[in-house]
Amino acid sequence: MKNIIKILLLICLSIGFILKSQLLYAQNNTTQYNMNNFNAKGVQASSENFTGTVWVNMNIKAEDNYNAIIGTVTFEPGARTNWHTHASGQILFVTSGVGYYQEKGKPVQIIKEGDVIKIPKNVEHWHGASHHNAMTHIAIVPDSGRDKTKWLSRVTDKEYDQALELVHQKTINLSENAIANRKELWPEDESKTDQTDPELIEIFDNWAFDEVIQKSDRINAQARVMMIMGSCIAQGALGEYKMFVNAALNIGVTPVEIKEILYQSIPYAGMAKVIDFIAAANRIFIQRDIALPLDRQSTTTSKNRFEKGLALQKEMFGERIDQMRDKAPNGQKYIQDFLAANCFGDYYTRTGLDIKTRELLTYSILISMGGTESQVRGHIQGNLNVGNDKERLIAITTQLLPYIGYPRTLNAIKAINEVAGGN
Ligand code: MN
Repeated sequence: MKNIIKILLLICLSIGFILKSQLLYAQNNTTQYNMNNFNAKGVQASSENFTGTVWVNMNIKAEDNYNAIIGTVTFEPGARTNWHTHASGQILFVTSGVGYYQEKGKPVQIIKEGDVIKIPKNVEHWHGASHHNAMTHIAIVPDSGRDKTKWLSRVTDKEYDQALELVHQKTINLSENAIANRKELWPEDESKTDQTDPELIEIFDNWAFDEVIQKSDRINAQARVMMIMGSCIAQGALGEYKMFVNAALNIGVTPVEIKEILYQSIPYAGMAKVIDFIAAANRIFIQRDIALPLDRQSTTTSKNRFEKGLALQKEMFGERIDQMRDKAPNGQKYIQDFLAANCFGDYYTRTGLDIKTRELLTYSILISMGGTESQVRGHIQGNLNVGNDKERLIAITTQLLPYIGYPRTLNAIKAINEVAGGN
């Protein structure tokens, strides 16, 4: 009993010390720690042990007597801890964003939402956000009674930037072109496949990010990424799509263009497929502080959508449209009217993508779907009519090959050769 009282007394005496020394990220103002929501950003941490802007919300404090200290820590882009050690170790749950974690003498690791990092006792390390993304983690210091955090030197800009270099320095053998093309799209290299499937990445990335791009270099990175996004939507490939939304924003494709690609996909791929991609893009926009809704791009009204849609249809496809409308059996003409008013009047007439880009996008969507031979041929002609020539169609098909595979690529090339002439 005496021992227990002694221990309790010791704990009481050490609380002040514990608060200062451990997770211990924020200013020592207990009223500011009084929060019951672990998502709350908390208070700004003092700059003594951190570089950049860091927010701390102490969810579980030492005086809560749970034998653990738990805090939510948000690092704004570029922010990080100093080098430090924890006497009883530390566990990090990354709840959002992208960041870095490094143990002394080891390579930097990219850490992302969903990752758990188990930091051993007394191992010197630092953690923080990546160069362009914020990162939030829940930090747990177990065995709080015995823990001691030892703060060491700052992670200098040089050390922090080396992190980025190390991240790009692959153990896999990628060509200079492949590295440069990947780095352009994903400066922080958010893929983890490099670590799990290095052999595959060596095969795929040297091909897709070097050979394929060299064979079709008349398509610039923006156009390539826009068409890949359309292709991913058409295939229902959500994971790859999200990678390319981030790539698109990294290389200056505008949010309006990204959204127009989604809207243009609806009449071809159908809302059932596209709705999940709209939600995914919106989540990325919110993460990147892009305010929604975006500016209005519609140029038609319920009164003139048919007339304007039909006019554009005829401008792009010529007398073929009149033939299609004339040939439609009685009782089915409304489908042709839908095409004019809805597909063209509602979507094609929108601003945000010029007509050449929009038509190339439709082609990319169609060849990625399969089972669309007749529509592919129609839109190859449509592309030629709006000024996308045969070489451009071949180039964009080549760019899509890594993402759609050989059968659909070969079918598309055959259709181009048949419609546009040539071998
Ligand atoms: Mn730590």
